[in-house]
Amino acid sequence: MSLLVVGSVALDSVETPFDKIDDALGGSATYISLAASYFSSPVVLIGVVGSDFPKPYIEILEEHNIDLDGLQVKENEKTFRWGGKYHYDLNVRDTLFTELNAFEKFDPVIPENFRKSKFICLGNIDPKLQLKVLEQISEPQFVVCDTMNLWINIMKEDLLKLIKKVHVFILNDSEARLLTEEPNLIKAAKMIREMGPEILIIKKGEHGALLFTDDTIFSAPAYPMEIIFDPTGAGDSFAGGFIGYLHRSRDLSAENIKRAVIYGSTMASFCVEKFSTKGLEDLSYLQIQDRFREFKKLSNFDESD
Ligand code: AMP
Repeated sequence: MSLLVVGSVALDSVETPFDKIDDALGGSATYISLAASYFSSPVVLIGVVGSDFPKPYIEILEEHNIDLDGLQVKENEKTFRWGGKYHYDLNVRDTLFTELNAFEKFDPVIPENFRKSKFICLGNIDPKLQLKVLEQISEPQFVVCDTMNLWINIMKEDLLKLIKKVHVFILNDSEARLLTEEPNLIKAAKMIREMGPEILIIKKGEHGALLFTDDTIFSAPAYPMEIIFDPTGAGDSFAGGFIGYLHRSRDLSAENIKRAVIYGSTMASFCVEKFSTKGLEDLSYLQIQDRFREFKKLSNFDESD
């Protein structure tokens, strides 16, 4: 059974204090699919690009066995483009531009043979499109949804409609505060869970992530990194590692969901080590396992005195 991913496939122009890159491979669905591809196969990507989308980028996705039957290529249209600039505090990012291009008229169509998918990852795009994808799935079993401040600001009603139907909602700390107008994250988390999603994950950038369920608050550490080259896609890689691991193990127990949060953090840590998707392109499962174990060591302590 496949893992279905919808979201943006983009050409990103990114500036960090260390370097600058134009028209690099990016997009929420791209990062999610690449991260998930180390755990599950096939990952099915639903999205759209223009005829200017470079062939080598298609090849990167294909090399990771990502199914592209649901990736529409629009003749005479341009690919979605996004530009961002990071400051010395890499948690602070300015969006320089967002050009929707082929996304403006995007009508996501799930190929017939994938409509019975059970595991769905709704990567960051217009919540109306996320909803449209979900409506085509006959019996979704586990739906993970990500979003961003833009949609909270301009499409809050649609987003609220959507999150009623998802099992896991992922957003970052500032987005949780924006959505609830509540500065305290614990209170904000309670409010968001009352809006629908049973499981909530609040990402805190380089400070880790918090998982909220009915009976747990689990705090995942962040990997202490000396090199953070480009934080773009960290959130999406987290989502990809999280759902990819759960899809592979088919175990949705509370303990396994905690493990999935650590696999998500593991994939995010690889992502930020290099520009664009480079940090996710050539990993081995052994490397992923090693880093997963390092995460365990980070918060292991002897409780006896
Ligand atoms: P993240 O750093 O995880 O928040 O995700 C960064 C990715 O999100 C980049 O590769 C962008 O192409 C993509 N992105 C930025 N803005 C949007 C948007 N409005 N809709 C869809 N994807 C976006």
